[in-house]
Amino acid sequence: MDLEQVLEAANKDRKKLTKFLKKFDDIIPPDLGEIVAEEDQKVWQQVDCTVCANCCKTMTPIFTEEDIKRISAHLNMSPEAFFDQYLEVEADTGSTVNRILPCVFLKDDKCSIYEVRPIDCAEFPHHDKRPFDDYNDTFIQNVFRCPATYELVKNLKERIEAEYDF
Ligand code: SF4
Ligand code: SF4
Repeated sequence: MDLEQVLEAANKDRKKLTKFLKKFDDIIPPDLGEIVAEEDQKVWQQVDCTVCANCCKTMTPIFTEEDIKRISAHLNMSPEAFFDQYLEVEADTGSTVNRILPCVFLKDDKCSIYEVRPIDCAEFPHHDKRPFDDYNDTFIQNVFRCPATYELVKNLKERIEAEYDF
């Protein structure tokens, strides 16, 4: 996968894919869950996260209290010291997030705290969240940054528009 090329294509398609995702606010194909699961399987035959790491470079996960306890213990730090060194509270959402990007735990494009990483990282890019249409705003935010989400949404658009009056 050529990351630069994929992100360039994703940026070009961003507007039309956003418009497609927005439609899930009003119309939901009856077998959407099955379609997404099928298309998502195909995505992971093409996309390899180990040669990407764009999420860790360009987005921050949300850290829960449990994440902070687990990661700080792993690093032999107190939760308070961990927070002070690495995290901040986002003014508009109140979420606890990374203070800087790329994530400081990204080393040579690999997560150096993989076993204890935040749940948000472990679940990213959230393609298996259900109902899928409840997360369309998340996918709108990620579709031009995550090659896996880009491939999924592009393929969903093609398939759903061919199979439904969408
Ligand atoms: S904690 Fe690990 S997986 Fe999560 S953003 Fe940082 S480097 Fe990436
Ligand atoms: S989840 Fe998406 S952005 Fe993150 S490494 Fe995998 S393909 Fe890249």
